[in-house]
Formats: sequence, C-alpha cells, structure tokens
Amino acid sequence: MKVLIFGSGGREHALAWAVAKSPKVSEVVCAPGNGGIASIARLVPVSLSDLDAMVAVATAEMPDLTIIGPELPLSLGIVDALTAFGLRVFGPSKAAAMLETSKSFAKRFLQRHQIPTANYAVCNSTEEVEKAIEFFHAPIVVKADGLAAGKGVVICQSKRAALEAAHGLFSGKLLGSQEQQLVIEEFLEGDEVSFLCLTDGKDVKPLLAAQDHKRIGEGDTGPNTGGMGVYTSDSILEPHMQEWILKHIARPTVAGMASEDAPFIGVLYVGLMMTARGPQVLEFNARFGDPETQAILLRLESDLIDVLEACVEGHLEETELRWSPGASACVIASSGGYPGSYRTGFEIMGIAEADRVPEVQVFHSGTAISGGVLRTSGGRVLCSCAAGDTLRQALDSAYAAIEKIQFEGMYYRRDIGHRALNKSVSK
Ligand code: AMP
Repeated sequence: MKVLIFGSGGREHALAWAVAKSPKVSEVVCAPGNGGIASIARLVPVSLSDLDAMVAVATAEMPDLTIIGPELPLSLGIVDALTAFGLRVFGPSKAAAMLETSKSFAKRFLQRHQIPTANYAVCNSTEEVEKAIEFFHAPIVVKADGLAAGKGVVICQSKRAALEAAHGLFSGKLLGSQEQQLVIEEFLEGDEVSFLCLTDGKDVKPLLAAQDHKRIGEGDTGPNTGGMGVYTSDSILEPHMQEWILKHIARPTVAGMASEDAPFIGVLYVGLMMTARGPQVLEFNARFGDPETQAILLRLESDLIDVLEACVEGHLEETELRWSPGASACVIASSGGYPGSYRTGFEIMGIAEADRVPEVQVFHSGTAISGGVLRTSGGRVLCSCAAGDTLRQALDSAYAAIEKIQFEGMYYRRDIGHRALNKSVSK
C-alpha cells in the first residue's frame, strides 16, 4: 500500500512512524512533512491552506489511503474533494468537521442532542454580548466561533473584561481577523481530559485518554501554546467513567451527526472538563490531537492501517484495538520566546543519542533540513516521547532523552505529568 499523509507536525511524524511499521505498507508520502518525517517518508512540498494544490498532490500520487493530519485542510473540504476523485481518505467531510470549525455549530448540536456542556449564548455583536452576559456569573468564557489555533478563547474575571474581550475579537484587535460570531460560555472548573475516539460514522472505539499541558510555564502558568507535553495512563479515567463518556457523549455525538446527514468518520477528539456535575464537553476537534497522538500511538500494538481502513470501510465494530500496558509521556522542546516571537534556523544536535534511550521515540514538529543540517523551523520543535510500565518511568525516559538534545534557545517544561504524580503520591 502507498499511504499519503497531509501535515507537517509531530502528530504527522508519529502517524508516519506508526503507518511505516505496518507490513501492508510499502511507501509513505508526506506533504509537506518536516526534517524528521524525511527519514521515513518521501516529502512533497505543498501549502496546507491551498486546497487545489493538495488535490493536485493526491491525484498525482494516487495513494491507497490518505490521512489528513491538521484541521485547516478539513475545514477547506479536502475529504470531500479527494473522495470525489475516488480516493480513500481517513478524516471527516467538511460538514462533519464543523464540530471543530464552528463552535456555535458544536454548541447548538450538543444542546439539540442533550449532550452535557456549559451553558452558552451565541452573539453577533457587542450589544448582543452585553445582553447575554447579564445571565452569566464571572468568570465568563468568550470564544471566537471559528478556527483560531488555540488562541480564540479568553477567560474573563468580570463582565467588563468579557465585554472588552468581545470587542477585541469583533474588531480584530485580539486575533488579527475580525470575528463575525462569538460564543459566550459559563466557566467550568475541574481537570481537563482529552478523550479521543475512532469512528466509522456508526461505531466508536476509544483511544487512550490523555492529559495535555497547554500553558508555556511550569505550574501551568503563562500564555496558552499548542501543547507543551502530554501523558497517557490508566489513572486518567476509571473504566466506569470511560464507559459513561462513551454512552452519554461520544456515541450520541456520532449518532447525532449521522442522523443529521453528516456522518463523522475519523478521529473525534472530545475535550472534556471533569466537573463536580460530571464530564462536560469543552470542545470537539475533528482530528488527531498534537501532542496527544504521539503519546497514544507509542502504546498502540494493533496495526494502525487495519484500524484506519476499518473506519474508512465502515467495519470498525469488528476491529480490536490492542495497547501496551502502563503509561506514556511526551515532552515538547520549543524555540526560545514561543508562543510569542522566536527565531528559527538553529542547528539541532543530539537527536541520535536521544533516540538511543530505551523506550524513547523523538518526533519532530518544527524542523527542516537545510544544507544537509537539521535546523529548527517552528515554535514547537520536537517531542521526546517514551513508554513505560509506570508514568514515572515514562517521564524519566522522556526527560533523559530530551537532556541529550541541544539547540540555541531550547526550552521545555520540567513538570509534565506533575498533577498525576502528585495525586498518586497523596493516594
Ligand atoms: P477550547 O478551544 O474551547 O477547548 O478552549 C481552549 C481552552 O480554554 C480549554 O482547553 C480550557 O482550558 C479553556 N476553556 C474553554 N472553555 C472553558 C470553559 N467553559 N470553562 C473553563 N475553561 C474553558
């Protein structure tokens, strides 16, 4: 089989790594890929915001299976476009991806199907926001409706701050683009869990639950990032809680989309807040998470191709997902200054030594090879991922490996997994 992957991050490196392990696969192509993916796949340059260019790549390559990594191509309708050419594609249609690409669509959908989520209002002007916030208590959450790469959510400590945030989003001062629609939401308190599942539009199979670390600073301080680290461990969700989430959230979402003629095929990523009144949906993503995917795929024992084909062909029910026991951890190394401004082009050293640490895989995010040298090319540069019998072992291996890597300005959090480790100490 020839497999084409669209994307250029750590998620796509992990997908390419897992796909390349399948005995069914003879060739992996990645568009555009990065410096690490280049060692296991043939790279084809493409812009992930140019639908016609991506269609041209896929129709020239004619892969047996295409996997869509990031949300931008999904929002442009890449799955619909490639399916029209008779290609088999893993990912949701443009209509199904609206669960991620429009927060107002997702909130109204959740309400229609009585799936637990925070109270909300959809507003089209500052005046509407002013009226709506009368019904909320501070803190109030103000969200841009569309894709904003994790930057479209403002948690406001007062009604006045909520109005200011709304004004900033409508005027374009906050995100650079003028938002047409906002979601105002009740603030939820609790632990966040990333609950990813595979679906063929009918059946749902959970992947491993994961916990992300979105803030740049240790102790969960500072601005939000794309994710600075993540771990998987059986302690994140008890089996009865996983079953509850499947029954009351994941399955009703998939059934609801099918009943609305927008069957969802691919990875349904449910961002959950575990509140005192039970799990509540914070957001949906319509694709594999980054960096969750790196930590999850490290523990997948089943052939990823079998599993993805079962989703595309509609027989997920007969497919079993097997996992290695224990835990996995992923620590991200970023460029100094990220998520603010940062410089790139610095030489990266020590990856071969890091990869030799037992149980470790280094996945690249923002790296590129120039002049035969591996250099930084993005904010998040690479992730050191490790599996272990326990979370402590997985973290120790991931940190032992990342310490062997150097580039100018390299930064990583030293406290990934701290909440889980502190909890197990106090148990
Ligand atoms: P979202 O893109 O909607 O997941 O929001 C990004 C982040 O903002 C989430 O991961 C949460 O940390 C936070 N957040 C979003 N909605 C809420 C809410 N209703 N209450 C508390 N925190 C929230």
